[in-house]
Amino acid sequence: MSTLRFSAIVEASKRLPVMGETPKGQPSDYYGKYVFNRRQMAKYLSKDTIKVIVDAIDEGVTLPREIAEHVAAGMKMWAMEMGATHYTHWFQPLTDGTAEKHDSFIDYAGAPGGDIIEKFSGKLLAQQEPDASSFPSGGIRNTFEARGYTAWDPSSPAFIVDDTLCIPTVFISYTGEALDYKTPLLKALSAVDKAAVEVCRLFDPKVKKVYSYLGWEQEYFLVDQALYDARPDLHLTGRTLMGHESAKNQQLEDHYFGSIPPRVAAFMREVEFEAYKYGIPLKTRHNEVAPNQFELAPVFGETNLSVDQNLLVMSLMDRIAAKHHFRLLLHEKPFAGINGSGKHNNWSLGTDTGVGLFTPGKTPRENLQFIVFVVNTLMAVYKNNGLLKASIMSAQNAHRLGANEAPPAIISVFLGTQISAVLDKIEESSEDDEISVDEFQKMKLGVAHIPEVLIDNTDRNRTSPFAFTGNRFEFRAVGSSANCASAMTALNAAVAMQLIEFKKEIDEKMKSGMKKEEAIYDTLRHYIKACKYIRFDGNGYSDEWKAEAKRRGLDCETSVPLIYDNYLSKQSVELFETIGVLSERELHARNEVKWETYTKKIQIEARVLGDLSINHIIPVATKYQTMLLDNVYKLRGVFSEKEAEELNKDDIALIVDIAKHISGIKTNVDAMVEARKVANKIENVREKAIAYHDTVLPYFDVIRYHIDKLELIVDNQMWPLPKYRELLFIS
Ligand code: ADP
Ligand code: MG
Repeated sequence: MSTLRFSAIVEASKRLPVMGETPKGQPSDYYGKYVFNRRQMAKYLSKDTIKVIVDAIDEGVTLPREIAEHVAAGMKMWAMEMGATHYTHWFQPLTDGTAEKHDSFIDYAGAPGGDIIEKFSGKLLAQQEPDASSFPSGGIRNTFEARGYTAWDPSSPAFIVDDTLCIPTVFISYTGEALDYKTPLLKALSAVDKAAVEVCRLFDPKVKKVYSYLGWEQEYFLVDQALYDARPDLHLTGRTLMGHESAKNQQLEDHYFGSIPPRVAAFMREVEFEAYKYGIPLKTRHNEVAPNQFELAPVFGETNLSVDQNLLVMSLMDRIAAKHHFRLLLHEKPFAGINGSGKHNNWSLGTDTGVGLFTPGKTPRENLQFIVFVVNTLMAVYKNNGLLKASIMSAQNAHRLGANEAPPAIISVFLGTQISAVLDKIEESSEDDEISVDEFQKMKLGVAHIPEVLIDNTDRNRTSPFAFTGNRFEFRAVGSSANCASAMTALNAAVAMQLIEFKKEIDEKMKSGMKKEEAIYDTLRHYIKACKYIRFDGNGYSDEWKAEAKRRGLDCETSVPLIYDNYLSKQSVELFETIGVLSERELHARNEVKWETYTKKIQIEARVLGDLSINHIIPVATKYQTMLLDNVYKLRGVFSEKEAEELNKDDIALIVDIAKHISGIKTNVDAMVEARKVANKIENVREKAIAYHDTVLPYFDVIRYHIDKLELIVDNQMWPLPKYRELLFIS
């Protein structure tokens, strides 16, 4: 009997919910308790200092050094009162997740060897020099210049985890290149702000700033700790590399929005309490489609902060799950045959005057502005559909895209019938129509209807990777384990570039004598025609769509390493360089990291799969086969030859089946190892990733097929790995 699996089942089924402490008072009482937010600043910093910080954040200017000194002093006092003894710069290297290196506040008061005091200077707040040589850099940092700097991002407040003050920072190389996700994101946000303000001023000269907003919906799985520990594949790769489908999985659709299992509810409550203390406004929690799959989402906020909060929530969830004897799975596809996990990125732009630029307005003027932003977003997504796909692509997410539950691996935009009708109407208005103030009023007929009909905008298309949902776009192709900054950088940068081009066209048309509205309609008409190909309201899973998308010239590539090429296309390089988000050198370096990460992920999976096949599965299958053989021999001893032949028929068929599957596993594992050896000799990182994709990855499904068949044959008592029905239904 397989002892580990069965003791894990026993342990898991006996568990009770772990009841955490409920914080005293209402969430509003402890909300933001661990964050150096504006309320804390007001207590620990002078009014003048706060004003300089707020202005710096709003206007994106560098903070003077002496201000950093003041802030550091106030922050240290607050942190020490909260019990912190250490501080760290908290940054987002190109591995997904965050990194930190803790230093304590202590320092000698005077001469070395004497008394110590707690110290935290403006310099330490503003800048640190972690030994950066072991973070991925794509060759930007040669080892002789292994230095990288982290530098404080005042727009995301510092917070305390346990005894450590965490300071959100960017991470750049000695020579100034970005080594993280935050740096390009901040640049893209600033670019979209500037570009969008220019366009908004066509409608309202009072607009000074445009914010990018993000509201993420985080999907995840929970698996009991003991069962997880009995699955080396989950442990090492985050997903199951084998496992036959459970007889029941999600076909009854009884999990989605069902009542939350008590152990999970206790976990969710604790995550919420903790998140509130970090000023993260979690709003929704529910079961997702697949068994043991769940989702949580906060109220949306400014994009940079929202990205940081997502990273913080992911690590909080991980820690809290352990307390509840769960393991958190953020992998995009932990289980074959059922839904994977994504992270919908709800994205919008809004002005400092309080106008949501994707919210249909009440007046024709507001509606025209709304249409301008919708159409420019369409254009941006159309022109950069390959790049946007690259921004969400990873070895893990590749399993999810294209499977039947998730957005397909082709980026298209769902607008819904109302907005589509408005765009069609604008497109059809003829070139010769004199667009006068009257005409503008007439447009109101079509455009001004939007607010009413949109209230009823329920025709949500779940198969679209990029959908308009009433007052925002929802980028659904983002993976559950990803750093949202990657998708948000590409999207905001693409829209910024597009808005710049739009404004230029309007200016030129007005210079040549067109009236403003006329120029806008004229440009919109052209854009609507030009980017029609990106609009698709049908079923994104269908094969017809795949063929149609190809005809439309959309990016249909499915190989991850080749999808990354989109970052280096002439157009992408120009985009990122023109608006100052990433240089060509940085793009090359980052792609090296992406290819390398891809290769390593597949390599690790291949090793784990080989190991489990040879050391776990084949021995057990052989043992069971021997038992059957034993039975065959024994029956022969008791019965006549003829009788025994009849009685042994089924066992012999099974013995043959097992032999076939064992040989299927063995042959393919050997071939996979050979393919790896060949791929490992390739020096070029891109070529190597392609080789892993083309020649190593294809063995996974074949090997798995044989293993899953054996799972159905071999005695349940002997099977070593927790089965899908156990992983998915015990909670
Ligand atoms: P659903 O699952 O129906 O799409 P949820 O309520 O789970 O919606 O999540 C929607 C997310 O979108 C939330 O984070 C919400 O705050 C966010 N959101 C709502 N309006 C906007 C907006 N204008 N801009 C950005 N995000 C938004
Ligand atoms: Mg949603």
